[in-house]
Amino acid sequence: MFPDIEVNDKGHLLIGGADAVELADEYGTPLYVIDEMRIRENYRRLHRAFSGEYSRFQVFYACKANTNLAVMRILEEEGSGIDAVSPGEIYTALMAGFDPDRILYTGNNVRDDELQFAIDSGVRINVDSRSQLLRLSEIAPEGLRISFRVNPLVGAGHHEHCITGGEMSKFGVMEREAPEVYRMAMDLGFEPVGIHAHIGSGILDPEPFMLAVETLMDIAGRVHEATGVEFEFIDFGGGLGIPYTPEEEPLDIDEFASKITGLFKDKLSEYGLGRPMMCLEPGRYIVGDASYLLTRVNTIKESYRKFAGVDAGFNTFLRPAMYGSYHHILVAERPLDEPSEKMDVAGNVCESGDLFARDRQLPEINEGDVLAIMNAGAYSFSMSSQYNSRPRPAEVLVREGKVDVVRERETFSDLLRGQNVPARLLKR
Ligand code: PLP
Repeated sequence: MFPDIEVNDKGHLLIGGADAVELADEYGTPLYVIDEMRIRENYRRLHRAFSGEYSRFQVFYACKANTNLAVMRILEEEGSGIDAVSPGEIYTALMAGFDPDRILYTGNNVRDDELQFAIDSGVRINVDSRSQLLRLSEIAPEGLRISFRVNPLVGAGHHEHCITGGEMSKFGVMEREAPEVYRMAMDLGFEPVGIHAHIGSGILDPEPFMLAVETLMDIAGRVHEATGVEFEFIDFGGGLGIPYTPEEEPLDIDEFASKITGLFKDKLSEYGLGRPMMCLEPGRYIVGDASYLLTRVNTIKESYRKFAGVDAGFNTFLRPAMYGSYHHILVAERPLDEPSEKMDVAGNVCESGDLFARDRQLPEINEGDVLAIMNAGAYSFSMSSQYNSRPRPAEVLVREGKVDVVRERETFSDLLRGQNVPARLLKR
């Protein structure tokens, strides 16, 4: 069982001091419930662990995990920067009040107009390829400060789709061409000031991360020796995992920070790299365990197997269907009940892969119960769609029992928004 499940005197699940059953009754289901203090605690724990070891430390929250404006505001208040991967994320971060200098744009297969947008927005640009560098040089002002994303040939992650370093990866410039592309950037009139790598996502084992840090530092050292570039920042990307199953152990963040910063500092002195900013881009670690998805059971079906059918689907929450991810499920009315029978929890989308759990031991579940799907804060709403013409759900933010609707539930009219029927097809 996850350690910090809280219940109230009715025995109902509490999220940020609010009764999950009452939230479902009042705001409807499916409903994402975001726990503000959990986000703040996650950010502070991580920041404290790293800055305690190396004071020049900066977080760039990977907002692809959760772009809700309220979440972004919380992180802006906490002092985070933003890792943005698209003009839309840059726009959202600016609207959330982030200073452009605190936004690092790491795009992949970027169009020229997107580069122009990044320049006009004044954000930092992290270059992913020679092609991008050359096209950027056509429009960039002289002396633009840039960094490069490097593929350090080390990859790790919870699923093959999440491994973003290594020979099969589409991301970054090759490790062996790094000195050459920095030189090329200087010749083109840029001022390269940073280096970046992101090896994957959902990493609970420090070892691959350590290897990536070591490799990136060696690459940075070689670039510095070959070109004289003085790094103002070295960014190791995101990837810090969270436990999804009750058996998984959380990362010991203090130990993790101490190992990584130790290695980082050794490599800084080995290569004479001075005291650049050390940056990380966590997404999942900050927001992953801070949200629940509430969904109501409408159908109990005894077919060839037993199904609890709910009113959310993979359009609402994609991770289980896309990655086969395990997400722990509680019955919000009785979250401490012991499992008593095996069943599948199935969504309402017309696809047989639309399952939140297969052969899961769960407590007794009745029609009308509210299920609380845990760890639904990262890559959850941000990956939702309107597939099957289902409007997206609402999101509420809770703090000490106070509830704010931070995203309205979509309506049918949102399904038609922006569509035009040519005059010749209009019904006469
Ligand atoms: N940085 C970059 C460049 C990414 O692509 C990602 C995720 O895909 C992240 C950071 C965040 O990863 P995570 O949520 O695992 O920390």
